[in-house]
Amino acid sequence: MIYDSILSCVGNTPTVKLKKLFPLQEHTVLAKLEMLNPGGSIKDRPAKFMVEQGMKRGEITPYSHIIESSSGNLAIALAMICQQHSLPFTAVVDPKISPTNLKLLEIYGANIVQVTKKDENNGYLATRIDTVKRLVKETPNAVWINQYANPDNWRSHYYGEAEEIVNSIGSNIDYLVVGASTSGTLMGVARRLKETNPNLKVIAVDIKGSVLFGGHSGPRELPGIGASRVPELLDASEVDEVIYVDDYESALACRQLVKEESIFAGGSSGSAIAAIKKLLPHIPKHSVVLTLFADRGDRYLDLVYDQAWFDMVKQRHLSTPSLQSIV
Ligand code: PMP
Repeated sequence: MIYDSILSCVGNTPTVKLKKLFPLQEHTVLAKLEMLNPGGSIKDRPAKFMVEQGMKRGEITPYSHIIESSSGNLAIALAMICQQHSLPFTAVVDPKISPTNLKLLEIYGANIVQVTKKDENNGYLATRIDTVKRLVKETPNAVWINQYANPDNWRSHYYGEAEEIVNSIGSNIDYLVVGASTSGTLMGVARRLKETNPNLKVIAVDIKGSVLFGGHSGPRELPGIGASRVPELLDASEVDEVIYVDDYESALACRQLVKEESIFAGGSSGSAIAAIKKLLPHIPKHSVVLTLFADRGDRYLDLVYDQAWFDMVKQRHLSTPSLQSIV
């Protein structure tokens, strides 16, 4: 198969059965490998869709300058997409960005604006958003992608991987387990799969310290999963259950995943596995459970796969009570 450009290679990801990690024949656990997208993560889908739909509607023109606040996978995906569309892209990042991601953004030709001042919550979110708003005012033809509120974020997953799942697996899925941050993946995939199976149970995975489904903001180390504010896109009434995991449980599951299945995945894939382990004892036998692995392990060599980091989150795990899941 010859593709027109790297942009046409986004999507059509494979799904694998996790037979070694879940060896008992009682359930089928499937994982769609979104990590195999060309930009390295599931965020290729919303980045491409948000930019191309904006172009179709005339909101993004050849003169537009794309701006977004992201230190992670979305920024890298946008940098790749914008480069191919010859659109300038500015990523607003904070000092917590990993050296690898900073380098990747440079390699894909992004402009990088790094905020330095912490906000009143001792984080960088508010400073980053203020900086985006200032840049939008100052930059000619600026367009703010705004992934937390842009409906093309969830639609990219609805028309993207969810459609692929319907075409390859059909209505045969009982439980959908999805790690959430902007909640675009969760909302988009759940909405499409519920159309084919109204009895589908939608399970959100959130990380301890995130406020997506209530609770207090707390320390958390893994990027990609969780949020320190509730996104406009999230409609919690469409979620049947929230399972909480912490950094340690996620990292441990990542390590088990690579050991058992030779799948070298990022932190939120471990979060999904840890959540499925908590879920399985409570669901009917022979259920089909589907999750998505959002990114690869390479961007987590200094976190999940680093022994000192692992020991640090393990200590924190052992010294704090675990969070109850919300049903
Ligand atoms: N996992 C990883 C590694 C991610 O980068 C993201 C996006 N931040 C997610 C999960 C969650 O996706 P969403 O923003 O669609 O909720």
